[in-house]
Formats: sequence, structure tokens, C-alpha cells
Amino acid sequence: MITVKRVQLPVLALLAMVAVLLFTIPRQLINHYLFVRSAIALVDRVDIEWMGYTSQKVVALTFDDGPDPRYTPAILKILAEYKIPATFFLVGTNVRRHPELVRAEIAAGHQVGNHTLSHPHLRRLTLPQIEKQIAATDRAIAEAAGVEPLLFRPPYEELSENILAASRLARKKIVMSTITVEHHVLPTPQQKANRVAKMVFPGAIILAHDGRVNRTDTVAALPEIIRALQAKGYRFVTLTELLQHNR
Ligand SMILES: [Zn+2]
Repeated sequence: MITVKRVQLPVLALLAMVAVLLFTIPRQLINHYLFVRSAIALVDRVDIEWMGYTSQKVVALTFDDGPDPRYTPAILKILAEYKIPATFFLVGTNVRRHPELVRAEIAAGHQVGNHTLSHPHLRRLTLPQIEKQIAATDRAIAEAAGVEPLLFRPPYEELSENILAASRLARKKIVMSTITVEHHVLPTPQQKANRVAKMVFPGAIILAHDGRVNRTDTVAALPEIIRALQAKGYRFVTLTELLQHNR
């Protein structure tokens, strides 16, 4: 009896281990598979971009929070001087106040996107409230310049289930950014430009601002940034061109 027990114990232990493996490993694999599947489904279902998938030295310049008569005309002038296209993510209330600036952006060949009506923290709003923010901005832009923006950037680049759902319902492509121009620790335009030039890579989406608060520094840094990136062999394109190979 003792010998049988001696044989049985390791066998039982082995069987127990096999049983544990059989029950745990497949479950982990299944869970992993389901997680990956749902993540892919989410990304696939919601049109959202952080960069252009390209090996070419192209970048997109984007300006949020305008139009603002203090900064937008100066930025348009610089972009015209360097013959560079950009994309402006417009705040609806500013569009209503300064429709002529939206028309100037479109006339100069720039692209416009939706950046909500009043620049709220969308994570704190309900789905219908977010939908209203997007729809009212679309209407303001249509009334100002006769175009419908296909791109949407949530203020503060916040994301939530409701933000994704509202964007999808409005048939927008969400565009986030990869490098921000404004940096409060860097005082001079040249330092800001050096930072952007150091961080840049093919397909990067550069975020700058032309409204809401004092953007004098951004306007001052813009020519430096353009020159620094051009010196590295980069070409500026609209977001639509930058994102054309993404899917
Ligand atoms: Zn903003």
C-alpha cells in the first residue's frame, strides 16, 4: 500500500498540474485574444489618428482654438510667406465672431477642422451635449465658409466613450497630435523651434494655437519652427494629405 501511495502522489501532483494548466493557460490565451480583438475593434471602429504612417519627411502643422484676430492673420501671413499649408481646428463661438478669418483660411488653401463650440472639457458632458457642441460648430463653419469639416479634435485632446461615440455619430475623424509647440519652460522662439526639430519624425502632427490665450510666443516661434524643420528636409502638408496612407 505504501509503494502504491508513493507512486500515486507524484502522478496525482502531475495530473493536478496538468489540470491547472489546462484550465488557466487557455483561459489566459482566450482573454488575451479577446482583449486584443476588442482593442483592435475599438481602434478600427473609431476613426482616430495620432500621426501619419509614412516614411517620407512630411509633417502637418495644426492650429487650435481660433480664429482670433490677434493671432490668426499673423499666422496666415507667415504660412503664405513660406507657402505652407496648415490645418485649423476652429472653436465655433470664434467662427461666429470672425467668419471672415475662416474664409481667409479656406481661400489660402488651408484645411479646417471642428474643435467644439465653446471649448469645454467634453469628458464632463453627456453624449447629447457633446453632439450639440460638434453640430453647432459644423453649422457655424458651414455658414462662414460653406465647408463641412471632416476632422475633429476634442479640446485638451480628451477622450472618453461619449466623445468617441459623438465623433462617430457626426462621422468625424478624430485627429490628435504628436508634438506641441507651446512649452512654458522654454522662453525663446528659437528654443521652442529647437525642441520641435529635435522631436520631429516622418508623419508627425504638430500642435500650435492661434487663440483663447496670449499666443504671441507661438507667432514668434512659427518662422523658426518652419525653417528648422525645412533645414532637416521636412515638407509641410495638410492633415488629409498626411493621413492619406493610414487606412
Ligand atoms: Zn483647444
